[in-house]
Amino acid sequence: MQDQLLQRLETASKALRIEKPFDGRTALPTNPQSKKWKRRDAATLKGMVWHQELGWGSVEAVARYHTGRNSHLHAGGVESIAYTFAIRKNGQVVLCNDLDRAPWSQGYAGRPGDENAEFLSVMFEGFFQGAGVDDATAGQPNDRQLLSGLILWRLCQDIWKWRAGDLYGHFLFGKPSCPGDTLQTVIEAVRHHTPRNRQRFTSVRSRQQALKDCNHYAGVIDGLWGPASRGALVAFQKECGLPPDGLWGPNTEAALLKKLEA
Ligand SMILES: [Zn+2]
Repeated sequence: MQDQLLQRLETASKALRIEKPFDGRTALPTNPQSKKWKRRDAATLKGMVWHQELGWGSVEAVARYHTGRNSHLHAGGVESIAYTFAIRKNGQVVLCNDLDRAPWSQGYAGRPGDENAEFLSVMFEGFFQGAGVDDATAGQPNDRQLLSGLILWRLCQDIWKWRAGDLYGHFLFGKPSCPGDTLQTVIEAVRHHTPRNRQRFTSVRSRQQALKDCNHYAGVIDGLWGPASRGALVAFQKECGLPPDGLWGPNTEAALLKKLEA
């Protein structure tokens, strides 16, 4: 999973002329003597949470602070930076921790479960304008960071089969200023995106298979839409109280999806 993601990130960064992903797992400051992160099963991750650095340092500076003696996370520091990914000002994606580590990145949204263990956290370098930030030095993330963040989200979404609503910002977990106005706008746009007229079964074969899966079609999956296929569709429409017109429209598809997911 981790290797697959890094490989796809590398391909994307090459195409977009962004510096290839950086392996920060051993390169960033760590503190082997201090508090260890809980282990998690990366396959069960539920989504991604975006953060901002809230400063004009760097991934390295944040790692130094989190692992250092004065860390606010834990007396004596934590074993490594408290995010899984970081996105540098030049757009480069940094892998900060193995995906099976559960760093303390967010929490307190009142959801049942462990909000640090269940989500992949991403920190954007920089100090961004946001709710409650009254500081003239605060700015905005740049275009390369936005592009890298969206690419990282999209690749993870594909690997974990997440829905659009599985992208979060720290503001949804109780920290209004994180990750700031611009990234919050991007997150909200992603979360509320609902594709229209999207048909899942676009080929005859997939339609035959779907009808077969709900026990309406007994023929072979041959990709030919003949009387048996059409008859199966009409029978299904009748069963659902839809007009039995034998045409594959959005209502028929929605009813079929509902039945298959039941
Ligand atoms: Zn945050």
